[in-house]
Amino acid sequence: MESKLLYEFSNTKTDGNASMSDLLGGKGANLAEMSNLGIEVPPGFTITTEVCNYVSSHNDFPKSLKNDISKAVNNLEELTNKTFGTGDNLLLLSVRSGGKISMPGMMDSILNIGLNDDNVYKLASSFSDERFALDSYRRLIQMYSNVVLDVEHHRFEAVIANKKRMDNVESDADFNVDQLQWIINAYKNTVERFTGNQFPQDPFEQLHGAIEAVFKSWNNKRAVTYRKINNIPDSLGTGATVQSMVFGNLNNQSGTGVAFTRNPSNGNKELFGEYLINAQGEDVVAGIRTPHSISKINSNNNESLEERFPKVFEQITEIASKLEGHYKEVQDIEFTIENEKVYLLQTRKAKRTAQAEVKIAIDFHKENITTKEESINMVDANNITNLLHPQFIESQNKELFGNALNASPGAAVGVIVFDADTAEIEAEKGRNVVLVRDETSPEDIHGMNSSVGILTTKGGMTSHAAVVARGMGKPCVVGAEKLIIDINEKTITNGDKTLSEGDSISIDGALGEVYLGELDTEPPKLSEEFNQLMQWCNSTKKLSIRTNAETVPEVNKALEFGAEGIGLCRTEHMFFEGERITPMREMIMSDTKQGRAKALSKLIKYQIDDFESIFTLLKDKPITVRLLDPPMHEFLPKSDIEITELGNNIGVSPSYIREMLIKLSESNPMLGHRGVRLGLSYPEIYEMQVKAIYKACFNLHKNENLTISPEIMIPLVMNADELLSMKNILINKISKLEEKYSYKLTYTIGTMIELPSAALNSHSIAEHADFFSFGTNDLTQTTLGLSRDDASKFLTDYVENDLFKQDPFVSIDVSSVGRLVEMSVLEGKSKNNNLKIGVCGEHAGEAKSIHFLNTLDIDYISCSPFRIPTAILSAAQAEILKQN
Ligand code: ADP
Ligand code: MG
Ligand code: MG
Repeated sequence: MESKLLYEFSNTKTDGNASMSDLLGGKGANLAEMSNLGIEVPPGFTITTEVCNYVSSHNDFPKSLKNDISKAVNNLEELTNKTFGTGDNLLLLSVRSGGKISMPGMMDSILNIGLNDDNVYKLASSFSDERFALDSYRRLIQMYSNVVLDVEHHRFEAVIANKKRMDNVESDADFNVDQLQWIINAYKNTVERFTGNQFPQDPFEQLHGAIEAVFKSWNNKRAVTYRKINNIPDSLGTGATVQSMVFGNLNNQSGTGVAFTRNPSNGNKELFGEYLINAQGEDVVAGIRTPHSISKINSNNNESLEERFPKVFEQITEIASKLEGHYKEVQDIEFTIENEKVYLLQTRKAKRTAQAEVKIAIDFHKENITTKEESINMVDANNITNLLHPQFIESQNKELFGNALNASPGAAVGVIVFDADTAEIEAEKGRNVVLVRDETSPEDIHGMNSSVGILTTKGGMTSHAAVVARGMGKPCVVGAEKLIIDINEKTITNGDKTLSEGDSISIDGALGEVYLGELDTEPPKLSEEFNQLMQWCNSTKKLSIRTNAETVPEVNKALEFGAEGIGLCRTEHMFFEGERITPMREMIMSDTKQGRAKALSKLIKYQIDDFESIFTLLKDKPITVRLLDPPMHEFLPKSDIEITELGNNIGVSPSYIREMLIKLSESNPMLGHRGVRLGLSYPEIYEMQVKAIYKACFNLHKNENLTISPEIMIPLVMNADELLSMKNILINKISKLEEKYSYKLTYTIGTMIELPSAALNSHSIAEHADFFSFGTNDLTQTTLGLSRDDASKFLTDYVENDLFKQDPFVSIDVSSVGRLVEMSVLEGKSKNNNLKIGVCGEHAGEAKSIHFLNTLDIDYISCSPFRIPTAILSAAQAEILKQN
């Protein structure tokens, strides 16, 4: 290794900054950034992620590292006027982990490095506080021995618990000097018993050991699992930050805490977090003592930091607003108070709910922190669908089982399970489960992933369960302290009510309430801020956003979410339901033109009605109707009962139907007799459909004075001749209708581009088409030669092994499908200036694909109703990126 191994930070000399998170990890890079900003940060240095990777592969430090560390420690000694290991004014250090992407609680940090049996008394006299010095030393032994020497945590907890019981001590902070001395001795004996060695007394040995352990913690099991679930590459490595200590455990004017600069659940502007007096960092999250709230609003006991230490509160408020202004993002901070002075130990972009995210983005602009464009970019487009999820219906009987903190909003209904493994097993059986635990830990991640909601009886708004659930967008209620879990009996009890594993509950993450049984849910109400955001996006984006929909409820949903028209109305879906399936089957089963005509005359009534009701909703918004493209096999009767019933209904024998089924069966229906091929074999089907379109438009014109201009789409075209002969049939039919009803319809005829052949023939097809609509689902199947229904078996392996960066059915495969679309757009437009172009596959609702599509000369994209806000936001974000 030749490059620079470590980067220093202090208020006088800092080498790094926030943009260097690849090399320094997020924590190290942001400590450097805050130092540059002049925020009070204890000075230190960060050893790079490259060194971590070196240590992983060589199992040893790079040659010059120890030397560089000594020099950097020397610099810290000068900066702080303290000395490491010896002297009257002791420098103590922490060693902290942190990769490019934050992995909360996954890796280890060690505090108070540099203390030993001798110098602990120096520390005591320099602060005139023996209790504090001994407390710091016992913390060092505990953390160091656990992380570096692998002595299990509970061995030390047992010593503490034992002493508390013996001496009747309530809280860790209440131990006196003698008791701490006793604990230190017991700790040291524990270390010797389980490692065969004495606790290391050499400060540099401690420092090197801690650094090595932090690097190795990158590959511990928890961290590896977490990276797998969250798609974080193993190759990133962690940084190791060595930092001079400040002491929250010094006295009752000192403490430690964590805070969000805004409420991460609802986005309100308030310092949101918890603090502990006379405590060191890890105490807040460890849940040993109950922390108090930072702001008065969230407190019910007059113990808030705002009330008890108003000056400290003011300092943090000021730092928070400086950080928000600088990062233009809500921050999640860690701080330590030493004698009422605030030091920042960490800052990072705060995880928050989709609700909070939208509100904060809007508020930041109102407060002049961000431009409109910056606010639009603050919201995660794929995440925003969380806002569209159901809530519990107000007016129903609800029996409250318990209530607690509203950690992550949404309504979840499921059966109770008490451990992560059971959650996973039950979820695999297709059951909705709610994971119920005292607290969650990183070992529970897979179970949380499998659950629809999470309930804990302990912990606060920044507990593991709360943070992770918000990240996953799952409803979560935490700290329901009145509920008692009996893990052996697998029950949870509140007073005289007891529930067992497998019983149903409903949890409301927005209110923090837990109900008995299964409650009914309803669609959400969209906030003012949400509407504001959508309005900004609409005036920023260039792409129109349409929807794929064919029923009245779907169309209504889509319009409510902001759809500007229908890009794909799949007519075959209109025949799936209820009694319509019978004439549909009758048509398929007919082997004569007359037989089909009879069935079609029944179907056309439904079709006209459906078109009328949808066209009425759309009024002058554009609508593309795709003519029948049935995967035939989906419509055929399967069981003997179905066959007999159909025979009775349409007046043929079951044996006739069986014969037809054999005739109709295809070994590869996806590439079989469908789309325009079917239309050309049986023109009467498409003729019926254009007649229905025509009649619906005619009726609405006559009765409602509405002028509808439908776009008629022919599916699965391979080349221009195919399109042209079908188009002639349709035009002919419509002309006859126009003559008969004396009403001239304004309509266009275009095609779906969903075969590579069509894309390659774009030149000639464009001469006869008014529009192209890329059906990127089938285009992906036919371009990659992958069947979507069968590929799931191996696609995950492909993605895991990096053969695909992402599932090509989720995000458009730019180098193949993307290229075909790009080429087809260019060629199509070059032949036909007026060619209208859209995209109507799943990809049209996925952020990354939309970024790609926005680089092409496309008019609109069309996606399912619940993806509309994602599409609107992504299209705006893509346009902002393009402009810059
Ligand atoms: P994690 O990533 O698990 O939060 P950290 O490296 O942030 O681990 O450290 C654990 C705790 O110790 C945090 O609360 C942090 O604020 C505190 N801490 C770390 N270094 C110091 C230090 N030099 N002085 C005081 N507190 C510290
Ligand atoms: Mg931290
Ligand atoms: Mg298709």
